[in-house]
Amino acid sequence: MIIETFVLSPFQQNTRVVACGETREAICIDPGEESKELVKFINDNNFNLQAIALTHAHLDHIGGVSALRESFPQAEILLHANDEDLYYNLPQQPLFMGIEPHQLKALGLEYERPPQISRYWQDGEIYAVGNFRFKILHCPGHTPGHVVFAEEAERKVFGGDCLFAGSIGRTDLPGGNFDELIDSIKGKILALGDDFTVYTGHGADTTIGRERATNPFLTGIYQPLGF
Ligand SMILES: [Zn+2]
Ligand SMILES: [Zn+2]
Repeated sequence: MIIETFVLSPFQQNTRVVACGETREAICIDPGEESKELVKFINDNNFNLQAIALTHAHLDHIGGVSALRESFPQAEILLHANDEDLYYNLPQQPLFMGIEPHQLKALGLEYERPPQISRYWQDGEIYAVGNFRFKILHCPGHTPGHVVFAEEAERKVFGGDCLFAGSIGRTDLPGGNFDELIDSIKGKILALGDDFTVYTGHGADTTIGRERATNPFLTGIYQPLGF
């Protein structure tokens, strides 16, 4: 499996190209902003970009969808239906985060409505990219429609903003729910197995075993206050 990471947007989001070296089929997971290097990498490797595969619809994961789709018009855009409202409200998202309308341009957070979603992820579906088979797992909590992509044979999971090295995704934005996120992580992600590598939406990669043993949100060291 070929995995190339591009750290994009003011939020330092890990945009990834994941490809099959044999068939040259590829997906881009979460294009966070327009990037010439990303387009060049796909073209220079003769990859067929079959899809823009979204874990969820926060602006730092979808800000580059429009530009990437213009370069690769054949690529399907795939998202879970429960994040559809967030997706089409991309231009308004910075405002929910407390950014003032007059600041948008200077921060590079001025967005147009993104292109039409091609198809919605179904929980449990198997999605093929060349010789690889990704199981799509619906993991709500950070957003209502968050999904992760698990490749069983490769022992790899692309986890977006559910689980980070030493932390978990924030749940204070609209649609977030702490208890739901913990249930998703424990019930679906940890259940994959300790030997899975987790490719996270921000920061370093990790493993499920390391997070199960040391992540304060999973070991019980962190107890949320009851308000
Ligand atoms: Zn997010
Ligand atoms: Zn993010």
